[in-house]
Amino acid sequence: MHLPPVSPVSRREALKLTGAVVAVAGLALGAASSLLAASLSGAQPGFYRFRVGAIEAIALLDGGSSRPVGQSPFGVGEGTEALAAVLDAALLPTDRVSTSINALLLRVGGQLVLIDGGGGRLLGNSGGRMAAALEAVGVSPEQIGAIVLTHAHRDHFGGLVNAEGGAAFPQAELFVGRREHAFWAASTADSAASVKSFFKAYEKRTHLVAGGDRILEGLELLDTPGHTPGHLAVIVAEGDQQLLHLADVAHHHVISFAHPEWRVAFDADHALAADTRRKLLDRAAVERLRLYGTHLPFPALGRVRPKGGAFEFVPEPFVAV
Ligand SMILES: [Zn+2]
Repeated sequence: MHLPPVSPVSRREALKLTGAVVAVAGLALGAASSLLAASLSGAQPGFYRFRVGAIEAIALLDGGSSRPVGQSPFGVGEGTEALAAVLDAALLPTDRVSTSINALLLRVGGQLVLIDGGGGRLLGNSGGRMAAALEAVGVSPEQIGAIVLTHAHRDHFGGLVNAEGGAAFPQAELFVGRREHAFWAASTADSAASVKSFFKAYEKRTHLVAGGDRILEGLELLDTPGHTPGHLAVIVAEGDQQLLHLADVAHHHVISFAHPEWRVAFDADHALAADTRRKLLDRAAVERLRLYGTHLPFPALGRVRPKGGAFEFVPEPFVAV
């Protein structure tokens, strides 16, 4: 295909054009002050497309949290100096500990599947951006056919309920661990109230599952207790490719890997959680598994390798392909 020839511009026309540009620039000057005043701050939107074999996947950013190192939920009891040393060794700021909140969208077996749903309204400004990310990729809540819940903490189910407390994904079947479901159903703790109301919103479409189950053509559930009693990790497999979704087996991309034995404030059973963390990271390192994690830095993908008797997370770069 040939582009039409460009007619030569005479000197007079060129001068006229230059004048027009100057006039436009003059007009623009008036608007410049308001343009410059526009703030660049605000919530990060985020989605990232990738594949696991033929399975299409999109990492969805729901939000994140950042706390002073003295209030770090990772390395409870270790002291700020020890924490700062670990962060410094990874060339991270030593005064704060920051993590993402991510959900994962997959197309498996002809349907759209969410693994967890971010924090929604339950986390205030720290969460709730997953809905906008879904909209940005052109997926409506009615199109989600299934949800796999790794565990019933509010940063994972908060985005699955709407403002009225109903199901935010009205067509979705919910897959949740049998042990996790039973634990929260029996709990009398205050924190269990929102879990119970979430379970109620999906109760007619709930499937109780367990580690070892294979569901939805390509997802294998792994029993990974400790963070919560019925916590599940998920292996997404297609062809010769695999993705291990750690969920909350490991949280912080440096601290959780360098010190898997350190106490995490959110872990229900500290010793069991640490044991699960070390075993699963060991497996991931040996098998060179590609990882996804709810709280890893967006787009939350990477691999793990052994380092100094523990581990190192190697993030996968955000690349546009
Ligand atoms: Zn979490």
